[in-house]
Amino acid sequence: MRILITGGAGFIGSHLVDRLLGEGHHVIAMDNLVTGKTENFAAHNDNKNFEFIEHNVSKFIDVKGDLDWVLHFASPASPVDYLDLPIETLKVNSLGTHNTLGLALAKKAKYFLASTSEVYGDPEQHPQKEDYWGNVNPIGPRGVYDESKRFSEAITMAYHQKHKLDTRIIRIFNCYGPRLRIRDGRVVSNFISQALENKPLTVYGDGSQTRSFQYVSDLVDGICRMMKCDHNLPINIGNPNEKTVLQIANAIKELTKSQSEIVFKPLPIDDPRRRLPDISKATQLLGWKPQVDLEPGLKDTIAWFAKQPSLTAAKN
Ligand code: UDP
Repeated sequence: MRILITGGAGFIGSHLVDRLLGEGHHVIAMDNLVTGKTENFAAHNDNKNFEFIEHNVSKFIDVKGDLDWVLHFASPASPVDYLDLPIETLKVNSLGTHNTLGLALAKKAKYFLASTSEVYGDPEQHPQKEDYWGNVNPIGPRGVYDESKRFSEAITMAYHQKHKLDTRIIRIFNCYGPRLRIRDGRVVSNFISQALENKPLTVYGDGSQTRSFQYVSDLVDGICRMMKCDHNLPINIGNPNEKTVLQIANAIKELTKSQSEIVFKPLPIDDPRRRLPDISKATQLLGWKPQVDLEPGLKDTIAWFAKQPSLTAAKN
């Protein structure tokens, strides 16, 4: 198949590029490199089945030739990034989603939207099932991401209903693994780089807020299974292994054998208190469940971080 992946230079997008090229598809990665990096797909630069187009998908998209799939994964995804790029975030998830939907329609391609557990906001229902409508502050600092992702789901469903476009919507829960940007501000990347540099681990609030972390290979597997099923409503993909942020800090401290202390910093505004996916739908429809536990996943991620030049330099 010929597959376009927007955000193909990003953390998740580039792992998806690896997987789909490995399955023998022709893959076109599109990215404006605001948060993505070309080194994430450097291994494929000489692969004739791989193309990279540097482009901002919030503007009209022109792709030559046929496409079988349009996978829309472009968007800043770290709270630090989307607070820094609020307008770009709103645009890529609204205009960018509209443009990629229009492209899929014109090419008679199938469409895959990367949505997020953030559509549930600070959830009042726990764990979160796909039929929960969420609890989002539209005008808070996280609203630029949460509301634009909610809009992206709405317009995807509208294209499905109005234009009969064959669409998928995945709601991705917290994900980690190699290629997280070292300083992207998210909790796993912060804690690992802080621990490797023997700097204090910055726990926000009292660290009792929870998240459920999935390893990137599990997520990519879920995405590929969704491409093969024909379910058009949103599906949660996440690891229902709920941990407090303090537990994550201690786990990373132990696995890195770091001397770092843990310090407490103010909790960001509207930081969700709890997050845990109900994955019964993914299990029933896709036969999917996560395979990688937190400890081996963190070990792999730490090993990758430890090889990154900026952290190696900091250690020496
Ligand atoms: N967090 C933290 N220290 C950090 C970065 C994040 O305690 O250095 C917390 C953050 O307040 C949140 C959780 O870790 O409760 C997950 O944050 P992240 O930015 O990774 O993603 P989110 O799930 O909030 O989108």
